[in-house]
Amino acid sequence: MTPTAAFRFDNSYARELPGCYAAGRPAPAPEPRLLFLNRTLAQALGLDDDALDGPAGAALFAGNALPEGAQPIAQAYAGHQFGGFSPQLGDGRALLIGEVIDRQGQRHDIAFKGSGRTAYSRGGDGKAAVGPMLREVLIGEAMHALGIPTTRALAVAATGEQVWRERALPGAVLTRVASSHLRVGTFQYFAARDDTERLQRLLDYAIARHDPALADAPQPALALLQAVAGRQARLVAQWMNVGFIHGVMNTDNMTISGETIDYGPCAFMEAYDPETVFSSIDHQGRYAYGNQPRIAQWNLARLAEALLPLILPQDHADDEAAVERAVADATAVIESYPRLFDTALRAGQRAKLGLRALPVVTGEDPAATLADDWLALLHRHQVDHTLGWRHLADAAAGDETPVRALFSDPAALQPWLVRWRALCAADDTAITSGGGASSTPATPAAGEQASPAHARAEAMRAVNPWIIPRNHRVEEALAAASEHGDLGPFERLLAALRQPWTTDPALARYAEPAPRELTERYRTFCGT
Ligand code: AMP
Ligand code: MG
Repeated sequence: MTPTAAFRFDNSYARELPGCYAAGRPAPAPEPRLLFLNRTLAQALGLDDDALDGPAGAALFAGNALPEGAQPIAQAYAGHQFGGFSPQLGDGRALLIGEVIDRQGQRHDIAFKGSGRTAYSRGGDGKAAVGPMLREVLIGEAMHALGIPTTRALAVAATGEQVWRERALPGAVLTRVASSHLRVGTFQYFAARDDTERLQRLLDYAIARHDPALADAPQPALALLQAVAGRQARLVAQWMNVGFIHGVMNTDNMTISGETIDYGPCAFMEAYDPETVFSSIDHQGRYAYGNQPRIAQWNLARLAEALLPLILPQDHADDEAAVERAVADATAVIESYPRLFDTALRAGQRAKLGLRALPVVTGEDPAATLADDWLALLHRHQVDHTLGWRHLADAAAGDETPVRALFSDPAALQPWLVRWRALCAADDTAITSGGGASSTPATPAAGEQASPAHARAEAMRAVNPWIIPRNHRVEEALAAASEHGDLGPFERLLAALRQPWTTDPALARYAEPAPRELTERYRTFCGT
């Protein structure tokens, strides 16, 4: 099969939402070269991955040879950026080239990023550089391996062209796969223009694509808002539990699908500190680690505002009581968010603590207090977030040495460990008495009667990663690729990130925290 025939497109957005995009064309690339091809993802999408490799794949993924059935469009969207509203953003350096349906029947957007100017480029060149696009591969694949909903990279092709940022950098095009590119900002675009007709069509489209069960809800717009609030609550809780800092949670970077999108200035936390910010443009710390739940709720409130004309019954715009009711309904959804987030966060923390059956106590839940006190300890003693949790699993298996070694004053940890062990014992009792709402006892592996301690340690190692994308390793890999054309470090790091749960001594260098001085100076950029 030729690579250009490898996709079977069904372009619902282009077909059903005229007026919500502008047609575009990828810029030609002088010298395409394939830097990365995600073969497993290609296969999952039902594509012929062999046909997508080599020079023909390079030409395709650099934008020179559009696949048959592609219909490149730049999507319109608006967005609140750092709190200020921009009514006109849109895909300034991206093109949705089409949608494919995977082996499970799921629909995915296939989009280029860095493929040149579009109707929405404003002053920008529409291009992207090799480093930031490979960064998106690494972080997206890491998030996927961590079980966190995310857009993913299908390919990166170098264009052979230089792009100008502070200096000349090698150019590249990323091919991104997303369950859709609908954003909070997509709704804001039409709301800001009082275009209720397109807003309605967008709502119908979003529901059909992401929440078909809501089509018959009494108030579909409200129901979608609630569904997005639930997905974002679960997503941000997962971010928090692995120490992920998105860095630019503008409303145009928040999806309706609940997937993480736009890996620009994101980074993972090292020593635990809720005020951690890495983004060079986030001067006020608006998108600091600890602010992310609040910001997600703030963004949802902007979605609620955009959807308000649709929450209001038709022809009731002048009916004051109806407007009040609609606002109250939308407000109730936004106000439900902290509880949704808290439930998701706490469930994640319980798993990380190795508590599997202990009943949840309403009010002051001892498991929640224990998690809070653990994080306070990590904070006070500047302990690495990832290794702190990971080595707690060793302690569960009976070896406290690794977790104690993370503390300059291990005695400070002792009272907390005593409380944790008491809750673990209560959890074991709940397991053997068949109690607990959430889980069933882990089954011992064949030939081995797992002790509760080992079963707990194993369960903890399946939720507390050993390997995350460490900032110094990411930078090292990108520098080698971008400055020396050496993809070795990128490929080795990628392989490590794809198995975050197993302690493989051969991968120890990827599990080590960065030197503290480096983390203190570390700054990330939007990659624009
Ligand atoms: P981002 O920070 O990547 O979420 O982008 C914010 C907005 O700026 C979006 O509308 C992008 O399409 C646009 N943008 C970012 N970089 C460029 C570029 N190099 N050329 C044109 N538009 C861009
Ligand atoms: Mg963006």
